[in-house]
Amino acid sequence: MAKGMKVTKAAKSPSKAMKAMKAAMKVTKKKAPTKITPAKPKDPSTFKPVLATHVGSLPRPAWMVPIVRGDEAPPADYKQKLHEATVAVMKKQLDAGLHEINDGELSRKDYVSEARKRMTGFGGLGQAAPAADLVEMKDFSKKLEGRKGLLTLTEKTEVKTASCDAPITYTAEGLADLQEEMDRVKAAAQELGIPLTRVFFTSPSPGTLATFFSNDYYETHEKFIEALANAMKTEYHAISAAGFKLQCDCPDLGMGRHTRFSKCTIPEFREAAKCHVKNMNAALAGLDPARVRMHVCWGNYPGPHHHDIPLADIADIVVQAFPQYISVEACNPGHAHEHEVWASFKVPEDKVFMPGVVDTTTSHIEHPRLVAQRLEAYARTFGTKRVIACTDCGFGTAAGANNLTEDIVWQKMKTMVTGAKSVGKKTEKASVCWMLYDQPKAVLEASAVGA
Ligand SMILES: [Zn+2]
Repeated sequence: MAKGMKVTKAAKSPSKAMKAMKAAMKVTKKKAPTKITPAKPKDPSTFKPVLATHVGSLPRPAWMVPIVRGDEAPPADYKQKLHEATVAVMKKQLDAGLHEINDGELSRKDYVSEARKRMTGFGGLGQAAPAADLVEMKDFSKKLEGRKGLLTLTEKTEVKTASCDAPITYTAEGLADLQEEMDRVKAAAQELGIPLTRVFFTSPSPGTLATFFSNDYYETHEKFIEALANAMKTEYHAISAAGFKLQCDCPDLGMGRHTRFSKCTIPEFREAAKCHVKNMNAALAGLDPARVRMHVCWGNYPGPHHHDIPLADIADIVVQAFPQYISVEACNPGHAHEHEVWASFKVPEDKVFMPGVVDTTTSHIEHPRLVAQRLEAYARTFGTKRVIACTDCGFGTAAGANNLTEDIVWQKMKTMVTGAKSVGKKTEKASVCWMLYDQPKAVLEASAVGA
């Protein structure tokens, strides 16, 4: 812009000025991103209440944590107890008013290890990639000592992970293990009378597996991703064939940048992200995109996150992914402003957004009006039909490494549903917050009079 102004001032006649301006605009046009076609904001009077779901992992019952972490042998009646816990956690989601639910990934140690165990090729030992923000903020990261999740959060708490040292294939035993997990979730859904069309089932993307597990075998990163995608295709198709809505977890597209790819430039990371999406798409080919969700995030740990790659740098790659439903962090302090990004370029019309409207790393419970405002920000671009309320990330990314306690988790689910239902409604005289809690009658009456 400044350049254009200069050119105009220097021109001697109006026609020369016009020519110069045109030339300047040409230059500006060349530099501007080609995809910008500002979306027409939707009319707020057309807003409707929206549905709600969550990202996937939930806190495991305390008795289950040492078992799923492999520190304790399962009891003889584990299968029955796990079934009861699955029914209980699915019922809690229904009681909270969620539309699409899952089993909270109860039986898993974390969201990537089960899938990795179902494949050959991971006999080596590697080191989990540290997060660049925590490497820099050492005083803060000390607070996370001993919290063994999937990431190396401090130098003292190193996390060892499997690495690839041989060809990757999805095994028959792995498929049987997946079948057992799916059968358990199916049985619980049937017991509750919930159709599988409302049940989602998560699985890591090829790029996410490569973010956590290093490669000591394949010649290039591309070949590693291709092999992972070829193997994981079996899992994705089995989940879909069982009747679930498949969710591919893709923190590789966000968090991958400041962990595994922290030494790369942004263009180099974008190339890797494109390769991850291309191979995930190949593995998902043949499925119905309307039955596939994806989850994009920058890592579910309560860190400063000041090295997170901006959504603007990856959004065009994210929308090239196969799934119709896109869950993305959209409410924490580093990413809440990024709803603007989607309005600034052409998003394929079939995409449905599941923005995070409650933060999974802070105990502060969001006001339902704030939840509604966050959803309305998305609805202005896409309309409420293309928006579903969601959490920023999981509430139990790794068993026993929860950011929040269960009591807060369920209150957050409730505030999310209350806020989602109030989209399109005029603000009530009494705050919608009252709908969340059992307030004494006298308080409600006083509030109504005072309003
Ligand atoms: Zn996440």
